[in-house]
Amino acid sequence: MRERSSDILCTRCKVRSAFYYKRASGEYLCRKCLFRGLERGIRRGLSDYSSMRREEQIIILDTFIPSIWLIPVIHLLHRVLREYKNYSIFLAYPWTLSLAKETRCGEKELSNEMLEISISRIKELINICSATYQYTEDLITCLLKMNLLIGLENALERNIKHIAILCPRDKCFSISLKNILFLNKEIVSEIYPKRLSLGIEIFNPLYNISEEDLLAYTISTGIYRRFNNALESFIKNTGLKELVYFSSTLSDIYLMINEIVYSGSREIIFSSTESLLKIYSKFNKCILCNAPINKSDHGSICRFCRTLLPFFKSLEKFLR
Ligand SMILES: [Zn+2]
Ligand SMILES: [Zn+2]
Repeated sequence: MRERSSDILCTRCKVRSAFYYKRASGEYLCRKCLFRGLERGIRRGLSDYSSMRREEQIIILDTFIPSIWLIPVIHLLHRVLREYKNYSIFLAYPWTLSLAKETRCGEKELSNEMLEISISRIKELINICSATYQYTEDLITCLLKMNLLIGLENALERNIKHIAILCPRDKCFSISLKNILFLNKEIVSEIYPKRLSLGIEIFNPLYNISEEDLLAYTISTGIYRRFNNALESFIKNTGLKELVYFSSTLSDIYLMINEIVYSGSREIIFSSTESLLKIYSKFNKCILCNAPINKSDHGSICRFCRTLLPFFKSLEKFLR
């Protein structure tokens, strides 16, 4: 990307010219300081929400619905994990892997190993979700649980104890907001910063990072120019076109909410993850995804995981 000079100096280093105005802190940042800040955020996420030790293996899970910041973030995460000599496996959907190839992000730059989730498997699971859940909100929840179970299945098969799920803080907040708007309580566990399932730790290293900062960083890498290809490939392979548009209409609401978030209090308190954890502490938990379930519900698996479980033979075996 061509360097555009600005008269404003970076608030942090006071040497380089600013590239980005960080609204949350009111700082002007150069590319390098933005990059360093994100690295610090990831390091903090790792130490706050995971118990992973040096040299342990970790699965980094794709976001399913393509996220424009995903490849740059995987790159950042891999840099941090390399410092601790952790072995990372990036479990990715085909559209993400083609984007990685197109942008010439070599395998070594993103993870120690990449695994592709097969398209026939994805189609099979999407069909199950769409056949069972007609409301878009329910369908989205089902697809998020599908993504998680794919991660769990692979971790169990390889005896890996840690899974990183990537969700920036404000995205977590908008999910919790959806929960309140649509009364879909099972989705809330997808924003918990850490969970335990079948002895595997699932955590979110982006919990302290805002999506705005990630977008700014992504723009500085130039990867966004190829992103439409990934989106088209996602729509072509999954047929979930409306889902992409659905989330963009809702994003208008979230933009407004973000204004509130960044102008004053970090979050509307009643929908913060901490409050949600407290509210749902009275509920039983789904043993697979940790979603709150009613005590009157029979069994210990939420309705979404129950729908999907017959198609995850290795998980079923583990639960027997
Ligand atoms: Zn700077
Ligand atoms: Zn569940």
